[in-house]
Amino acid sequence: MREYTVIDTLKDTLKRAEKIVFLTGAGISQESGIGTFRGNDGLWEKYDPMKLASAQAFRDDPRLVWRWYNDRRRKIMAVKPNPGHMAIASLQSHRQVWVLTQNIDGLHHGAGSREVIELHGNIFATKCTTCDFKGKIRDEFPDRPPSCKICGSNLRPDVVWFGEGIKREVWNQAIIHSMSCDAMIIVGASLAVSPANTLPLYAKNIKATLIEVNPENTPLSNEMDFSIRKTAVDALPKILSIFESLN
Ligand code: NAD
Ligand code: ZN
Repeated sequence: MREYTVIDTLKDTLKRAEKIVFLTGAGISQESGIGTFRGNDGLWEKYDPMKLASAQAFRDDPRLVWRWYNDRRRKIMAVKPNPGHMAIASLQSHRQVWVLTQNIDGLHHGAGSREVIELHGNIFATKCTTCDFKGKIRDEFPDRPPSCKICGSNLRPDVVWFGEGIKREVWNQAIIHSMSCDAMIIVGASLAVSPANTLPLYAKNIKATLIEVNPENTPLSNEMDFSIRKTAVDALPKILSIFESLN
C-alpha cells in the first residue's frame, strides 16, 4: 500500500520533468546475472578484483588480467538486459532520456537506450598501452593480450581502472547532462566511487528531483527527494508506467 503512496507523489513531481538523467551502477546489472566486484567468482575467488582491475596488475601479469577480462566478457555475452534496462529504454518514447553508467557491460545499449555515456568505458573496447590505437573485441577472445597493429605493444581493455580517471570529454558531458536535467534517477550505484558520486550533487544544485532506486542506503540517501528501497527490476517498470499514465 505504502508503495502506491510514493508512486502518487512521484507522479506529481514527474509530470513536469522533460529531461530525465539516469545514473546507473553495478546494481542494475545484478538482476541480469552479472555480479558486482565483491561477489565470489569461482575460478577467480583467490584473486582480488580491485587488484586485477589496475594498470599495475596488467603490467605485472598482462596475461592473467586479460584472461580475467575474457571471462567477464563471456559472462556478459551470455546475459540479457533485464526489465530495469528495458524500462529505461522505453522511457525514450515519453521523455528526453540520458543514461550515465558506471557499468562497462553495454547492457543499456543492448536494451535500446540511444543516449548512453559510459563513464568507465566498455569491456569490448580495447586500446593500446603505448599509442593512440583503439579497437574492439567481440567474437573471439585470444588468451593473451593482442598486439597493437601500429606499434606492437599490448592492447588492454578500454575501461577505467582503479587509480585512473574518467576521460575528460566523457566527464564534461556527464556534468553537462547532470546540470540540465529535471530529474536524476540513480539506480544500483553505491555512490561510494568518486567522482561519479558527485553527479547527483550537480543535479541537486539546479534543483532537479533526485530519486534513488536501491535496496540499501547510500552515503547520499539524505540528499534524495525519493529513496525507493526496491530492486531495479521491481521499481523501474513502475516508474515507466507513471510516465505512460501521464501521456
Ligand atoms: P557497487 O558494487 O559499488 O554497488 C552496487 C549497488 O547496487 C549497491 O549500493 C547495492 O545496494 C545496489 N544493488 C544491488 N542489487 C541491486 C538491484 N537488484 N537493484 C538496484 N540496486 C541494487 O557498484 P557501483 O556503484 O557501480 O561501483 C562499482 C564499480 O565496479 C563501478 O565503477 C563499475 O565500473 C564496476 N563494475 C561494473 C560491473 C558491470 O559493468 N556490470 C560489474 C561489477 C563492477
Ligand atoms: Zn600501439
